[in-house]
Amino acid sequence: MKKAPIFLAPLFQERIWGGSELKKQYGYNIPSGQTGECWAISAHPNGPSVVREGDYIGKTLGELWDEHPELFGHFNSEKFPLLTKILDANDDLSIQVHPNDEFANEFENGEFGKTECWYILDCDEDATMIFGHRAQSKEEFMDMINEGHWGDLLQRIKIKPGDFFYVPSGTIHALCKGTLVLETQQSSDTTYRVYDYDRLGQDGKLRDLHIEKAVEVTTVPHTATKVEPTLDKVTGAVVTTFVEEDYFSVYKWDVQEEAELTQAESFTLASVIEGSGTLITIEGEFPLQKGDHFILPAEVETFKINGSLSIIASHPNHKGSKRLGMVETTRQMANS
Ligand code: ZN
Repeated sequence: MKKAPIFLAPLFQERIWGGSELKKQYGYNIPSGQTGECWAISAHPNGPSVVREGDYIGKTLGELWDEHPELFGHFNSEKFPLLTKILDANDDLSIQVHPNDEFANEFENGEFGKTECWYILDCDEDATMIFGHRAQSKEEFMDMINEGHWGDLLQRIKIKPGDFFYVPSGTIHALCKGTLVLETQQSSDTTYRVYDYDRLGQDGKLRDLHIEKAVEVTTVPHTATKVEPTLDKVTGAVVTTFVEEDYFSVYKWDVQEEAELTQAESFTLASVIEGSGTLITIEGEFPLQKGDHFILPAEVETFKINGSLSIIASHPNHKGSKRLGMVETTRQMANS
């Protein structure tokens, strides 16, 4: 069944800032009321996804990647490149920064760097997040950290549901209280904490900070990559393109009736964030509901989605060679 979607079972991580929205909003069976992360599509050793049904049931995504490269269009990467999460920030996350590929490879045992992006699924009315900083030089950055001038140093911005943020490695950032986010990121688990509000961890101690590494990898002065979503209407759906960058492209498919879509990618990661419907490929019909996560293998070139639902879809890109996204194909379809 190389033309069927591969459904993956989500995995949950408890965090001191976590909550219970993943149960309330997605019906997931979470381990506690401090569940911060749903690792939805992951081949990372710290939380590998397992195939939920079908031919490959019980296999981890990492095993599939190694044993069946044809499913992934022989995408040229030693490790599965991306990681999809849903994050429930019931409290503020630490102020943090992630390294790029070169730094992580050298200092974090061959890890990928971590460029990430966020689609705001839901948030409190007055929700904010930390995105960037105001220091003009590394020296000033270091001084403001040492003196604890967090209010002056950190840029706080307002957010609302539906917003999208691209967070390249080197960007100082933090999700804040009352935010539910779908994150698409490089497959990496390396975070350098700069400030943690002097909170105690589960063991009653201050959580570790990593200021030296953080200062080294932070982009100074802060530069924001502007993302301007573009909308394309195709039969039965609206396709929003949020970002097409070095490591990934991310889209939203809002299906209203029956959408005919085409995949020109090596493979696509998909997460149903709202509604329900049916995915139809040459292999059959597959029910979709809010909270489902799946991969469309390379050989699924055309497919239909029925129903009323929203899906966040992504595919990896090779750094430096941005590839045509699905939207190119759908644009052609819309024109033809
Ligand atoms: Zn992060």
